[in-house]
Amino acid sequence: MLVAHFDVDAFYASVEIRDDPSLRGKAVAVAGSSRRAVVLTASYEARPFGVHSALPLWRAREACPQLVVVPPRMAVYKDVSRQIFAIFESRGLPVEGLSLDEAFIGLGEMTFREAYSVAERVRADVLAATQLTVSAGVASGKMVAKIASDSCKPNGLLGVEPGTEAEFLAPLSVGRLWGIGPKTKAKLDVCGISTIGDLARLDGSSLRALFGSWSVQVSELARGIDTRVVEPQRETKSISSEETFEYDVRDEVALAELLKEQARDVAASLEKEDLSARTVGVKIKRADFSTIGRQTHLAEPTRDAHRIYRAALHCLHRAQLNGAPVRLLGLRVATFVAGEPKQTALFKR
Ligand SMILES: [Mg+2]
Repeated sequence: MLVAHFDVDAFYASVEIRDDPSLRGKAVAVAGSSRRAVVLTASYEARPFGVHSALPLWRAREACPQLVVVPPRMAVYKDVSRQIFAIFESRGLPVEGLSLDEAFIGLGEMTFREAYSVAERVRADVLAATQLTVSAGVASGKMVAKIASDSCKPNGLLGVEPGTEAEFLAPLSVGRLWGIGPKTKAKLDVCGISTIGDLARLDGSSLRALFGSWSVQVSELARGIDTRVVEPQRETKSISSEETFEYDVRDEVALAELLKEQARDVAASLEKEDLSARTVGVKIKRADFSTIGRQTHLAEPTRDAHRIYRAALHCLHRAQLNGAPVRLLGLRVATFVAGEPKQTALFKR
C-alpha cells in the first residue's frame, strides 16, 4: 500500500505573493495586526532569519527588520484550498485532509513508479490551476511520506522506495518521529539517542525501559513500518441554493422559474471555485414539512447554468408534486471535478 503526502509550500504567504508580485523575492510574513499577533506563515526568504509560523510578530520584526507583513485573507485561502482539494479528489483515490493545504492520498496497490508519477501529475495540476507549488512524498506509510515531503521542500517530490524506509529515516533527528515530543527527545538525548537510526538499533528491553507499552510501536515507526491507512473524511461536499417561501407555492411553473435562478446561482459558485459537478439534485419541503429529494447523475460534469437547470427540472418532475403546496425548494450540485470540462459532442460514437 503506497501513500502520498502533499503540502503546499508556505501556503498563505505563497497565495499573497502570487496575488501581489511586488512581494516576490521578499521576506514576507502573513500575520494579524493585534499586539499579540503571531506569524501564520513566512515566505522562504524570511526563514533564514528565524521567522517561522507561531513566532510572535514583534520578535519576527526584530529578527528581520525588512519583513513585509501582510494581513491574512482567510476567505481567499479557503477558496484556493477548495480548488486544491478538488484536484486531490479528482482521481477517485481516498483523500485524507490534514489542513487547508495538506493531505494524504492513498495510492492502493500501484507500483512505486506509478505512484510517483501520480504524485508528479497532482503537483503539476495544482501548479497549473493555482500557480502554487506543492511538495510531495511517496512512501509505503503515512509517516515516511510526510517526512519525505517535509524533507524536499520547497517544490520537491521525494519517493522513498519500499524496503528503504529504515535507511531513509536513520540519519534524521528522533524528533522527526511521530509521537516524540520535546520532552521525550530530551530524555533520549541524555541516553545518547539522537537519530532515528540510534532508536531503531535499540533492543527490546531498552525500548521497553524507555517507552513502556508503547515500545513496539516506536520501534516499528523508527524502522519505517507504519500500517495506518488513509482515511477519507466523509463530509459530503456540495454547493446548493435554496429558498423558503413566505407563502406555500403550488405552481410548478413558478417553481421551475425559481430553479432557473438557483441554477444560475450554483453555476456562478462552481465557476468561482473552478469546479464542475456531475450530480444535480432538488430538495423539496412540502407544507406538511415532509421532505422529498431527487437527484440525477450527468453523463458529463458541467458548470453550465442551463444544463444544471434542465437536470434539476427533470428531478422536479420526478418528484410528482401534483400541485401539493411547497414551502422550500433547493437545488444542489455535488460530485465535483476540477476545472471546466471541454464540451464533448453529444452524439459521440
Ligand atoms: Mg503547507
